[in-house]
Amino acid sequence: MKRDTRLIALGRAPVRAEGPVNVPVHRASTILSEHLDGYIHRFDGDNRYDNVTYGATGTQNSRALAETVAAVEGGYRTVVTGSGLSAVTMAISAVVGAGDHVLVPDSVYGPTRRFCVEVLRRYGVEASFYHPSAGAGIAELIRENTRLVYTEAPGSLTFEMQDIPAIAQAARARGVLVAMDNTWATPIHFRPLEHGVDISIQAGTKYLAGHSDLVIGMITTATDALFRTIADQVHAFGDVASPDDCFLTLRGMRSLSVRLERQSASAMKIARWLEARPEVKRVLYPPLESDPGHVVWKRDFEGASSLFGLTLHTTDEAAVARMVNGLALFRIGSSWGGYESLVAFNRMPIPRTVIPWTETPFLLRIHIGLEHPDDLIADLDAGLARLGA
Ligand SMILES: *Cc1c(COP(=O)(O)O)cnc(C)c1O
Repeated sequence: MKRDTRLIALGRAPVRAEGPVNVPVHRASTILSEHLDGYIHRFDGDNRYDNVTYGATGTQNSRALAETVAAVEGGYRTVVTGSGLSAVTMAISAVVGAGDHVLVPDSVYGPTRRFCVEVLRRYGVEASFYHPSAGAGIAELIRENTRLVYTEAPGSLTFEMQDIPAIAQAARARGVLVAMDNTWATPIHFRPLEHGVDISIQAGTKYLAGHSDLVIGMITTATDALFRTIADQVHAFGDVASPDDCFLTLRGMRSLSVRLERQSASAMKIARWLEARPEVKRVLYPPLESDPGHVVWKRDFEGASSLFGLTLHTTDEAAVARMVNGLALFRIGSSWGGYESLVAFNRMPIPRTVIPWTETPFLLRIHIGLEHPDDLIADLDAGLARLGA
């Protein structure tokens, strides 16, 4: 079955002759038992992974969502968490312990970096940051106590690609786990587990939910053992996504591939248009031939999402404020993946260890929504004209 069809067919079991199309929202804390025996054994064996036993360990809504995500990711099973960041922190903390070492790309999502530096260190886990283009060279950074190589591609804000298959192969040869934050590409455009990654992480908040009205995360594993390890960690920490948010995310996923198709086509058109403008220094978007990550992106990814970076020649923050404040369709905001276009502003440099940013004093990040690309171009055209006003 094609992926597009799976997005429509999955997460609706059990198939009934009569009833609503969508799994209704099951709000629950207590799950009643019919007999005492069932109550006593409610958490036994696989019950807590497979059955609905308590609201905090999943309902019909999280199960339906997990089933759909796992299939689209080409994974074994998925654990749903309360946010994208908790999917990151649960996945990492589930597989490391005191005395372990973790390798993290320098281009990693800021809050992931903060977790590795501030929280993991307090628990006796050392994180070191590596150049995102390390590729097979990651082998030289793996130590005796390295337990996990974390990856994210492209990098948050600065959009560096990573050679995921080479990293996964090198890590696997040393018995080291590999996790990937795949939020940018979504499983429609890249499936980490098919490239040797053990744990695939999604901030479902972004494209999967797709409507900028909730936060949720997913962790998909290649094996049963890893699924259990991570599910146990998530349950132990009491991390949970609400049934309503699971319902809305699954509803969002029904249109995921068509939204992405339109949004990436618009993003490509707008990125090319921006790249040709004299006010623009660089468009940071791996699908562009000019992007340093283009070759790796083209080799490994099946498409792109609609988020890219933008640097300008001007160093005048007031001019950029004039440009951004006057935009009619692009609103100012940071959590992307919804149906609406956004612009975010970042004063640079942001914290980096091995790839210091020296290019420009600020970086814009553009998210392209479902508006008509010609209207978005007209909005940006007027905005760029305000830079010189
Ligand atoms: C947004 C984001 C997250 C965190 O998701 P939240 O739901 O906002 O916690 C994690 N990783 C990446 C790459 C993101 O962009």
